[in-house]
Amino acid sequence: MAETLFQKVWNSHAVRTLPSGQTQLFVGLHLIHEVTTPQAFDMLRRHGWRVAFPDRTFATIDHIVPTTRRERPFLDVTAEEMTAALERNCRDFGITLWPPDDENQGIVHVIGPELGLTQPGMTIACGDSHTSTHGALGAVAFGIGTSQVRDVLASQCLALDPLKVRRIDVHGRLNLGVYAKDVILTIIRRLGVEGGVGFAYEYGGSTIDAMTIDERMTICNMSIEGGARAGYVNPDETTFAFLRGRRYAPAGAAFDRAVAWWRTIASDANAAYDDTVRFDAASMEPTVTWGINPGQSVGVNEPIEGDPGDEAFAFMDFRPGARVAGTKIDVAFIGSCTNGRLSDLEAAVDIVRGHRVAPHVRALVVPGSQAVRRAAEARGLHEVFIDAGFEWRGAGCSMCLGMNTDRLEGRQISASSSNRNFKGRQGSPTGRTLLMSPAMVAAAAIAGEVVDVRTMLAGAPA
Ligand code: SF4
Repeated sequence: MAETLFQKVWNSHAVRTLPSGQTQLFVGLHLIHEVTTPQAFDMLRRHGWRVAFPDRTFATIDHIVPTTRRERPFLDVTAEEMTAALERNCRDFGITLWPPDDENQGIVHVIGPELGLTQPGMTIACGDSHTSTHGALGAVAFGIGTSQVRDVLASQCLALDPLKVRRIDVHGRLNLGVYAKDVILTIIRRLGVEGGVGFAYEYGGSTIDAMTIDERMTICNMSIEGGARAGYVNPDETTFAFLRGRRYAPAGAAFDRAVAWWRTIASDANAAYDDTVRFDAASMEPTVTWGINPGQSVGVNEPIEGDPGDEAFAFMDFRPGARVAGTKIDVAFIGSCTNGRLSDLEAAVDIVRGHRVAPHVRALVVPGSQAVRRAAEARGLHEVFIDAGFEWRGAGCSMCLGMNTDRLEGRQISASSSNRNFKGRQGSPTGRTLLMSPAMVAAAAIAGEVVDVRTMLAGAPA
């Protein structure tokens, strides 16, 4: 019978059906970090349990890590304690850890693919909502909570309800100045932030087929913001080329054997879906959020629509009918697991080169990993950013969320390439976040206000 990738991967990892009706699912790869693991390890110790598969478990420190001074001990006592706790836990339980000074350290969803740990057909779990990122390589990846982290550490299994599969087809060519971030913001805007509840999203169509793995990661990353439990793209030649030669990917003849198997786990051409939706890439515009969830977005030049009684209007100081273009910003943040990869920095630098950050704007570039930082520096991108007035930082989650010293203050408005614009997300309870592509953030940093990036791109229709 024809099946989707989701069904094939689910069925091949199902251990048994539990009395609750849930499936006990084997987890091929468990990625952990400092925030959602301390209690899980404590529970293991209390029960006298070991980690079932330490060789399938990898750790990094990303959420709380300072992106400026990295010497130990960290000045932030909590950050130091959380880092030391993960170091101790990994040592005691035999888990590979990439600490803040390691060349492989970075945001968990950036380093997994980068190191070739993330592979097609895998089940992946991590105690972070944006684990769906790994679906860009044809994996089925779940963000989990602390008690589930404990379950995976102890048994390498999760108890999960099966999901329906929605096929999201995007067809056509994106216009210049329109990026993967605009695609996923448009998808979430139309389907809603709860539209994906109970679903895994399978992304396909000619637009997705033409995307790089980095772009597909941006799309899959934000599946969770549309309510989907997972998001993925079927593996193809782009996937295989991305993985070849990566540290943890199979090598030599084993790689060829893996590719042969990876081809078989893609969705069958005649697979049936629980739902199918279609988008036209050519109609998409540079998109920005105006509200307090990622579904509240609009084309940058388009008037905002919505119920004037929606709390988002009062919180964000917008009115129905207003445009986001022209909104003065205080902070520009380029980074996160959504848009902190090399290609994101390259897209931003194309806008920045030869310009200066507006005097009233604090602008940060935070690479998603040490490898991204090294690659950017090898290309001289850091010099362009620094010359323009950006701060060039060490790898970490930084201002995606307020768990480290990079935070908004008061009512500041941030143009951000991250994934969540919830109230308080960037560290100030009253701070305001406008989500957009890295190129749009760069353009806003220079203009000092939200602008249509196409006005700064030669050859782009504005
Ligand atoms: S960058 Fe943001 S969304 Fe991604 S892992 Fe870090 S905190 Fe979570």
